[in-house]
Amino acid sequence: MFSERNLIRVREGNKKPVLEGGEYILYWIRANRRMSWNHSLDYSIHLAKKFKKPLVIFESVMMDFEWSSPRFHRFLLEGICDTAEDASRAGFTYWPFVETKDHSLSEIVPGILEKASIVITDDFPCFFLPEHAEKIGEILNCKLLLVDSNSITPLASYEKSFGYARVLRPKLHDRFVESYVHRSERKPNPNRIPNSDTLKKPNFLFSGKKEDIPSYLQKMNSRYPYLLPVSGKLGGRKEGLKLLKKFLMEGLPFYSEERSEPRPPERIKSSSLSPYLHFGMISVEEIVTAVLGSDPNVNWSPDTLNHSYRGKNEGFFHPNPNINSFLDELLTWRELGYLLFYKEPSFRKDLSILPDWAKLSLETHRGDKREYIYTKEEFEKAITHDPIWNAAQKELVLTGTIQNYLRMLWGKKIIEWSSSPEEAFRILEDLNHKYAYDGRDPNSYTGILWCFGAFDRPWFPERPVLGNIRYMSSDSASKKFKLKPYLEYIRSLDGISDLPLFK
Ligand SMILES: Cc1cc2nc3c(=O)[nH]c(=O)nc-3n(C[C@H](O)[C@H](O)[C@H](O)COP(=O)(O)OP(=O)(O)OC[C@H]3O[C@@H](n4cnc5c(N)ncnc54)[C@H](O)[C@@H]3O)c2cc1C
Repeated sequence: MFSERNLIRVREGNKKPVLEGGEYILYWIRANRRMSWNHSLDYSIHLAKKFKKPLVIFESVMMDFEWSSPRFHRFLLEGICDTAEDASRAGFTYWPFVETKDHSLSEIVPGILEKASIVITDDFPCFFLPEHAEKIGEILNCKLLLVDSNSITPLASYEKSFGYARVLRPKLHDRFVESYVHRSERKPNPNRIPNSDTLKKPNFLFSGKKEDIPSYLQKMNSRYPYLLPVSGKLGGRKEGLKLLKKFLMEGLPFYSEERSEPRPPERIKSSSLSPYLHFGMISVEEIVTAVLGSDPNVNWSPDTLNHSYRGKNEGFFHPNPNINSFLDELLTWRELGYLLFYKEPSFRKDLSILPDWAKLSLETHRGDKREYIYTKEEFEKAITHDPIWNAAQKELVLTGTIQNYLRMLWGKKIIEWSSSPEEAFRILEDLNHKYAYDGRDPNSYTGILWCFGAFDRPWFPERPVLGNIRYMSSDSASKKFKLKPYLEYIRSLDGISDLPLFK
């Protein structure tokens, strides 16, 4: 049930009226690709009951978005198959549409929109989605409402975005109980919504059957058609939930000490959930709920919160340090990025938001001689002098993921080995978004900008090129971690790669 307390998550996408004569309430899924733990869906159900109209849930996949490839298309289509199953089990009317060379979104969408009384959609603050929502608001005849289901605390409840995790953390802690108590529905149901049986289903909907995915992939244009899906990397909610279950048993108990260790995938201790979070196949709220309830020694309730640790990155959520450490990443660090985009819609995805000390450092060292300079193509092909960096780049290209510690090193070195900070930013943005399943996300930008000093402090001694920006090296990574199994894993991937890049 939608609680009034969550109205703060809803904002108007235009100033048009509710069309009383419309046939249905339309929820257009563009980001929260799931049938549960979803405030947009909860609010849509609420409106369908209020206006006594059927509810139609429409999900779309656009084909040639920036950085699109069969890799991301398949992940999205597998997601739709799971959502179709969940929708049918719960009794929702669900119309998924996948754009192909034969049938474009602009061909099908107007016919669906014109029959709506109100359109509700997901308020995802990054990539092409904010501009897309604006366009929908303009072409619609009826009211558009945007709902924020991005995290556990409503983004609108913060007065602004924050430049440091330590500034956001106490505010997030203050909002946590209220937000936790008003989480979205675990099992929303369409009871008491008027029946939609008489509605005419549009043509050319996707069947939601896995066996139809290959033929659809062949009919979809993309920016990088040669970038194939990673074998064994499945999209969809089922796989996300499977990974969550595995993480609770095998990763979380070791998280605070071992999350940074670069290892082969079967031995890593972080959750690997970022692609599922990015595509909205799993929600932060359900992960938080599962994690807080996972320690058999603690019967967690909001009373368990330890307010004497307010604002600290340990001790606040739970007596178990692994749980605190994980929730600090999932909530504080993730929300920094979402807030940046939500509160600064004019932010143009560049170095402009760096703190002054970082801008000054980069400027002072702009003319420094670089020990190595590589082009984007050389970075992309992983042919630098540094085998650890090359391994991280190959992991990204071949598996669509990159381990967090090495991702930081990967970013730092691109800054050091590029001709200018601006060139480095462009290379990082492009490689991250093109290959990473979790790319094109607010966290892509906070991660990349962190490498340039954002959300960080000045470090000493001052160094060439980076100045006071935190320095990282492959040498210290190899001293800190046992990298041999990781490097062997990457070599084994390289041997079986189909990608022409490494042939
Ligand atoms: C250069 C660079 C680029 C990055 N690009 C992306 C990106 O495109 N998409 C992306 O989701 N993350 C990005 N990150 C942040 C981080 O690397 C990933 O979120 C994390 O490695 C995902 O792995 P996981 O799901 O196993 O994380 P876990 O450790 O299991 O954490 C759970 C979740 O918390 C969030 N999280 C964890 N660490 C961070 C962090 N440092 N900052 C923000 N959120 C975090 C993620 O949503 C993650 O899925 C980037 C970091 C760097 C340094």
